[in-house]
Amino acid sequence: MKQRPAARTDPGHTPPADQGTDGSCPACGTTDVSQTGLLTAHRYRLLLCSACGTQFYVDTQRDSADSASHYQWESYKLGVYNDDLVRRSFEDRYRELLEKARPTAGTLASVLDVGCGIGNFVAFADRLGMRAIGSDVSPRAIEEARHRGLDVVSADQVADVVPDESVDALTFWDVIEHVHDPGDFLRAVLPKLRPGGVLFFETPDADFPVRTALLRLYRLTRGRADLTGPMYYWEHKIYLSERGLRALLGPLGVDVTHVERQTSVRAKMQREFSARRSVKGRLLRLTWPMLETVFRRAGRGNKLLVIARKRDESISPSTPE
Ligand SMILES: [Zn+2]
Repeated sequence: MKQRPAARTDPGHTPPADQGTDGSCPACGTTDVSQTGLLTAHRYRLLLCSACGTQFYVDTQRDSADSASHYQWESYKLGVYNDDLVRRSFEDRYRELLEKARPTAGTLASVLDVGCGIGNFVAFADRLGMRAIGSDVSPRAIEEARHRGLDVVSADQVADVVPDESVDALTFWDVIEHVHDPGDFLRAVLPKLRPGGVLFFETPDADFPVRTALLRLYRLTRGRADLTGPMYYWEHKIYLSERGLRALLGPLGVDVTHVERQTSVRAKMQREFSARRSVKGRLLRLTWPMLETVFRRAGRGNKLLVIARKRDESISPSTPE
């Protein structure tokens, strides 16, 4: 039986020892956070930041490693991202976003794609004539990407292999939600981006109405009506709101220039739902295309797509001369 991704480690860097449990919001830093009551996989407690609306998990058993194996996640990832329809759908999305940035971005001749998986974006950027390099934490994904002839390194090699301020664009597609501390993640990779360079990323939107409605239902029924499964994955450590991501990026010297909301690529969702054998899974598979159309027309979606620009006087390089 196919499974949903089971475990995914922080794609950009080594996971911090302390799993974001000091009680402050990982996006805006305020300590004004509250319990939502949602406990996922009997272990991960969802907190809500009252100031920016970002939601994030704290691990109640942080002394033991995340339970499931990497192999399940890797098999899932290799399967989904090898699917031609999924790949083409993502490429349409990338192309649109790149076009939106172009008028103000200046030259976009090189890109570092963090958490590149098997390298679909790296391959796409290569075809556009960009100098593209990817990084990932999964040896199996790296091997697959290299087998495709792509320039991909392991996450811990990035600091040495990619010179500071050397790339025009930095991308992470569905990656930042997998880290407990997105600030740490960004501080590790932003020095690679040249001043004035552009950041592109996609991440779940904390404010997606279906997400907030299902969470409200869960809270009202004290967990008896739990339909949160398709909207809350414990592998996602943080659900950023637009306010949260602006609060996160601003102090790091990055200005958000464009935010849009989109639903997940349809071909990917269909694959995910078809892997679920439950009644809920079948229901979702049947209703998602309709829901997706409704939300798309309303300009809403479960994903935030973001374009941001690194200020010229941004944070200093990670390896001072
Ligand atoms: Zn916050």
